[in-house]
Amino acid sequence: MSAARHDDSALLHFDLIVLGGGSGGLAAAFRAAEHGQRVAVLEPQPLGGTCVNVGCVPKKAMWLAADLRLRMGQAARFGFDLPIDTQVAFDWPSFITDRQRYIHMIHESYRTRLDRDGILVLPSRGRLAGRDRVECEDGTCLTAPHIVLAAGSHPQRPDIPGAALGAISDDFFRWCEAPPRVAIIGGGYIAIELAGVLQALGSQVDVFVREQRLLRQADAELVAQLQENYCQQGIDLVFGYGLKALHRDDDGLRLEAEDGTSRGGYDEVMFATGRRPNTADLGLDTVGITPDAAGNIPVDAWQATPAPGVYAVGDICGCGPTLTPVAIAAARRLCDRLFGGKPDAKLDADNVPSVVFSHPPLAMVGMTEAQARAQYGADVHIYRSNFRPMREALAESSQRSLFKLVCTGDERRVRGIHLLGDAADEILQGFAVALKMGATLDDLHDTIAIHPTSAEEVVLMR
Ligand code: NDP
Repeated sequence: MSAARHDDSALLHFDLIVLGGGSGGLAAAFRAAEHGQRVAVLEPQPLGGTCVNVGCVPKKAMWLAADLRLRMGQAARFGFDLPIDTQVAFDWPSFITDRQRYIHMIHESYRTRLDRDGILVLPSRGRLAGRDRVECEDGTCLTAPHIVLAAGSHPQRPDIPGAALGAISDDFFRWCEAPPRVAIIGGGYIAIELAGVLQALGSQVDVFVREQRLLRQADAELVAQLQENYCQQGIDLVFGYGLKALHRDDDGLRLEAEDGTSRGGYDEVMFATGRRPNTADLGLDTVGITPDAAGNIPVDAWQATPAPGVYAVGDICGCGPTLTPVAIAAARRLCDRLFGGKPDAKLDADNVPSVVFSHPPLAMVGMTEAQARAQYGADVHIYRSNFRPMREALAESSQRSLFKLVCTGDERRVRGIHLLGDAADEILQGFAVALKMGATLDDLHDTIAIHPTSAEEVVLMR
């Protein structure tokens, strides 16, 4: 409380109030404090939001465990004294203890920084009570000329009978063992990531997708290769599936499809059917903000809502891809603009690299082939390398990698880089810089390859 002035009317005055202590909200708070501002953050849940507590961080921990498990299956082929493709026992509860200890360290480091920067954190939900005013659950009123809404989003279940019987990704992080049989509904990021992890750690996973493919926003060829790899891993992918209802019978959970068929025997059914912004009970009506049909708070390119002095970043406004680094970038630039003397600072949502943590990971930046053809017509040039990485070849595995460049024009300007393969998550970051700087195919060819790696394929494609 020392950072704030406390007056007789129990009003606490700040330069900035942030609703939500997730990735975007904390980034705004830290950057504003760096610029010498007095900041309050309201967060009723553990610090770090979805990313740290029920998203990127625990997911990556589970992905790492799953990755290790898949590699163990190859160890015998490398001469290690392990049965081929053995189901090595995995002490899930013990690993969760370590995972949560890691997350606890992140909470502690946030606390240290918040204290150091004199940022007030109130463990309360906040509600707008006017353009410069926020009310806490206990009735305390805070005021500030600037308010950032960064309350994030939550997983949504489809509106079908029995939906409450299904789990959501938040539940996955509470599981203490791999359920023997899992059905996943959805074909997006979360469905793909959890399917890979669960299958590797011992579940039999079936994925039900209403489209004819996974990951609509990714390049179709890479997705086709990923689907093939997943099938080889034993995951059953069911496309064109319309789920009508979910119920429990003697065999477990049963899916009823719109076409009248049913599939049962599931221990868990996981809904990975998208997320919805946390706009309920934020007091948006008090400042004249109306969310759009998807629940997103409308913002302009400067993160400004229609209410002067009220801004929004991250999943709650869905501007740009709903990814942690995008929320952080938007928040930092907003605070640089408001408090740091950088009037032009704003998020550049073009060419945002992203990774789906599948097995192997799928990394992408820029245009897919389909997007490039829609914009540039016949002036699109595709370069691809479909290969079996050395480890897979040595282990006699048929899992393949596919790297693809989407270029346009005579100068072969690189518009899209799409990588499906081991370490694609680590490889793409540097190449994303090259794409953003306007690299051409010649620039890639002028760069000497690092041999023998998968990454060298990116500079050798012809
Ligand atoms: P996505 O939007 O990625 O995927 C949702 C999937 O559910 C789509 O396949 C969608 O189908 C399907 N779907 C939606 N409604 C229904 C329904 N009623 N019945 C059946 N299927 C349905 O959402 P996720 O929940 O997977 O993830 C949310 C967001 O979180 C992602 O978009 C991403 O921005 C972020 N994220 C990022 C990660 C990363 O960076 N590695 C990891 C996890 C999440 P259709 O395509 O037909 O609409």
